Amino acid sequence: MFTAQNYVMASSLEEAYTLNQKKANAILSGGCFLRLSKKRIHTLIDLSALSLDQIEEFDEEFRIGAMVTLRDVETNDALRASFGDGFYEMVRHIVGVQFRNCATIGGSLAARFGFSDILTFLLALDCEVELAHAGRMPLCEYAAMKPDRDVLVYLYVKKNGRRAVYQTVRQTKTDIPVLACAVSVLNGEYRAVVGARPARAMAVSFDPVDPDWISKTVDAFSFGSNMRASEEYRRHLAVVLLTRAYNAIREG
Ligand SMILES: Cc1cc2nc3c(=O)[nH]c(=O)nc-3n(C[C@H](O)[C@H](O)[C@H](O)COP(=O)(O)OP(=O)(O)OC[C@H]3O[C@@H](n4cnc5c(N)ncnc54)[C@H](O)[C@@H]3O)c2cc1C
Repeated sequence: MFTAQNYVMASSLEEAYTLNQKKANAILSGGCFLRLSKKRIHTLIDLSALSLDQIEEFDEEFRIGAMVTLRDVETNDALRASFGDGFYEMVRHIVGVQFRNCATIGGSLAARFGFSDILTFLLALDCEVELAHAGRMPLCEYAAMKPDRDVLVYLYVKKNGRRAVYQTVRQTKTDIPVLACAVSVLNGEYRAVVGARPARAMAVSFDPVDPDWISKTVDAFSFGSNMRASEEYRRHLAVVLLTRAYNAIREG
């Protein structure tokens, strides 16, 4: 467990950003991952008072505050109406309901975990993030950046009709994924995302008209071995999960 000398409930984004520039300080969101560390934090910066716990629907996009919990996106009717079971599938294996009531979208994206279900599914949709200092940028750009000291404020999810299916395999029900895959389509253009390779999720386009699409798509990703699975097994799973996701999209 970490220790912290000071605690500040930030009263503005500017204050949160300024405090977070010091390496010894840290933002506290759900605290679920942070609490596993043994960090000696100088000042904990709490974002709870910044009204970032809302899911707002606009004509062209959803705006999801950084403090929205995984449980909020799992059970939100408007997200379900636009994206079917996608958000539910993205989080339903993550530990348990009590945990998902604490862990946030902001903490999940900012940490850019290599095992992230969340990053994998969201990269299949058309998303942007808004940072306190750097402003708005595509999620794929943010996901590829090294962790920095900016504050993630919002996630935007475009309502452009893209359909996405998420597939994952775990050794046990609530463990982190052995592999995470998503396939999406918009206007006949397909995208495949593979995460927990065990590296950070990455997206590539593919053309299912090509008879070799699955082997070419899987070859576009690198896979590795760790205590959960070998590189060969992950490669094999990628073929199975991407094919299943593609078939599910075709079948509607
Ligand atoms: C036991 C366990 C099992 C898990 N299993 C899974 C799993 O199967 N799949 C999966 O996808 N995820 C999994 N996770 C990750 C989890 O879903 C959350 O992503 C994680 O807990 C971080 O969310 P949080 O709100 O608790 O962030 P915190 O723990 O509060 O913060 C995490 C890090 O991000 C920084 N941070 C937080 N918010 C912001 C912000 N707005 N801007 C900038 N930096 C910020 C913090 O300073 C900290 O360094 C697991 C986590 C744990 C502890």
